[in-house]
Amino acid sequence: MGPRPRGTRCGLASSESREATSLNNTALPLECADDVFFVEGPASNWIILRDGKEFTVIDSGYPGDGVDFVESIRQLGLEPRNMAALLVTHGHVDHTGSARMLSEEFNIPVLSGAAEQGQMIGRDKNQVSTQQVLLRAWQPRVFRWMRHIIAAGGSKGTCVPASGVFTNELLAGLPGLPQAIDTAGHTPGHTAFLLASGALASGDALVTGHPLSTVTGPQRLHPMFDHDRAMAGRALDQLQTCAATSILPGHGKALRMPIADAVQLARRSPAPTR
Ligand SMILES: [Zn+2]
Repeated sequence: MGPRPRGTRCGLASSESREATSLNNTALPLECADDVFFVEGPASNWIILRDGKEFTVIDSGYPGDGVDFVESIRQLGLEPRNMAALLVTHGHVDHTGSARMLSEEFNIPVLSGAAEQGQMIGRDKNQVSTQQVLLRAWQPRVFRWMRHIIAAGGSKGTCVPASGVFTNELLAGLPGLPQAIDTAGHTPGHTAFLLASGALASGDALVTGHPLSTVTGPQRLHPMFDHDRAMAGRALDQLQTCAATSILPGHGKALRMPIADAVQLARRSPAPTR
C-alpha cells in the first residue's frame, strides 16, 4: 500500500498576511497538523479530521459547494460513507450546505450544540436577511459575494430533520478528539471546537477575513451577522482561555497564532461601519 494522500502540506498564513479573501479557490485540503485538514471553500471553510479510514468533518460550506466538499474528502483517500460525524459550529446555511445530503444519502450523524437545534431543523432562522445584505450590495466586493452566495443556495436556509446534539462523551470518541467550547452569540448555540493538535475550529466566533471586511487577520464578523453582539463578545473570553495555537476559521485563511493574541487583535480590529 502506498502512502496516504496528504493534501497540501501547510503553510498557515502568518499574521502579516494581506491577501484578500478569494471566491475562486479550488477547495484543496491543507494539512495544518497531522491528519488535520483545512479546506478554504469558495465562500466558507470546512475542516477534515482523519483517523485511518474514518474521519470527522466540521462544517460543510454552502449547498452549492457540495461537489467541492465531496471532492476534498476523496482527495484525502476517504469516502463520505465512512464519515463518523459532521459537526456544525452553527446552523447558518454557509456551514450546513452538505448536511442534509450526508444525513439522507449516507446516514451520517449531523451534530450541533443543543441551543442550535431550532436552526438546524429549520424551525428558527437566526440569519441575516437578504435585504440587510442588499443594502450594502452597491460595494463591488459585496455584489460579487452576493452573486456567488445566491448561486450557491445561500437563500435556502438550513433544514436537517435528523440533526442531533453532540455530548462530550460522543465527541471524545470521534476522530480528531474535538472538544466543544460554548461560544454562543453569533447564533444561540454556536460552538467552537478545540482539536487535539492545538488548532481551534473557531467557526464564525472569530474569523480572519470576509468579503464584507476590508481587512485580513483576526476579526469579528460584521455586527449584522450576530444574533447577540454582546454575547458574541463574551464568547471571545471563552476562546481566549483555551490555549489554542492556531486558528481554523469559518471565513478567511488558517492562521498560526496563539489564541490570546488573536482575540486581542480581533477586539482591536475596526468594526465595519457600512
Ligand atoms: Zn454564521
